Amino acid sequence: MLFSAIVPCYNEEENVADIYREITNNDEFFKSRDLELEIIYIDDGSRDGTVKEVKKLIESDKRVHLVSFSRNFGKEAGIYAGLEASKGDYVAIMDADLQDPPSLLPEMFKAVMDEGFDSAATRRVTRKGEPPIRSFFARLFYKLMNKFSNTELMDGARDYRLMTRRMVEAVLNMKEYNRFSKGIFGWVGFNTKWIEFENVERTKGETKWSFWGLFKYSLEGIMAFSTAPLALASVMGIFFTFVAFVAIIFIIIRTLVFGDPTNGWPSMVCIIIFVSGIQLFCVGVVGQYISKVYLEVKERPIYIVKEKI
Ligand code: UDP
Ligand code: MG
Repeated sequence: MLFSAIVPCYNEEENVADIYREITNNDEFFKSRDLELEIIYIDDGSRDGTVKEVKKLIESDKRVHLVSFSRNFGKEAGIYAGLEASKGDYVAIMDADLQDPPSLLPEMFKAVMDEGFDSAATRRVTRKGEPPIRSFFARLFYKLMNKFSNTELMDGARDYRLMTRRMVEAVLNMKEYNRFSKGIFGWVGFNTKWIEFENVERTKGETKWSFWGLFKYSLEGIMAFSTAPLALASVMGIFFTFVAFVAIIFIIIRTLVFGDPTNGWPSMVCIIIFVSGIQLFCVGVVGQYISKVYLEVKERPIYIVKEKI
């Protein structure tokens, strides 16, 4: 049996050796389970010495592999490339920064090998060390997602996950360009065991996610797995038709009772501006979906490989 560990890296020169050491700390365990190991580093167009560090490891250990992108394609592309390159019967994805502790691997293998699960996923139960607004918006995102989409998303879920080959194949069959892995893992189904752990802070280097980047990523997730925003336009349409209907009746009765004093111009302007604002918003939502469709029909590759070892 072969186990593939996939490590997406973007400017992680300080972490490459550390994560290697942490994964291979489990060597005894792998041996006891008759597992061969391969570690696949995905260099996502790093500008620092990441590739050099990985090559150093490759020289000393034949189990290490490298896929290097021609530019930065994002972590989602890295995950996809890693899954495509992996040959393992079991595959795990883990961050380079040790925020996905490799010491959890034995527990994850137990779920998949002994307890019959197809996947062992991890979620952090705390968000300590994270800016409070970031936690607030993250929670809000999971609430919205679970309300509006049929795909279940676990709050605090990480991309750190051990999967069997058949689940990996299912994920690889989802070839969409706008990738949102957390949703894809839920969408393909299979039995998943959730393993909880306390948040671990990044030791070296810094996070690649700005607040704005995360915000865009969350919109990506909502649009990839829910069409509820599109339905919003119809719901608002019905609502405003109803309001207009009530207003018309009110005005007719008022005119019959009090005559027609011909005022109400300012309120008319407010109503027009308000309703046209809503209309533009709805057109914008539709536009967002069309832009996603546009990118999908182009069928661009998800990533471009520069070097593969
Ligand atoms: N990453 C990547 N490409 C990117 C951004 C990040 O491959 O464009 C990798 C990064 O090297 C790390 C993982 O994705 O291994 C998670 O990134 P980070 O720690 O910055 O995210 P956070 O833990 O803060 O959510
Ligand atoms: Mg991190």
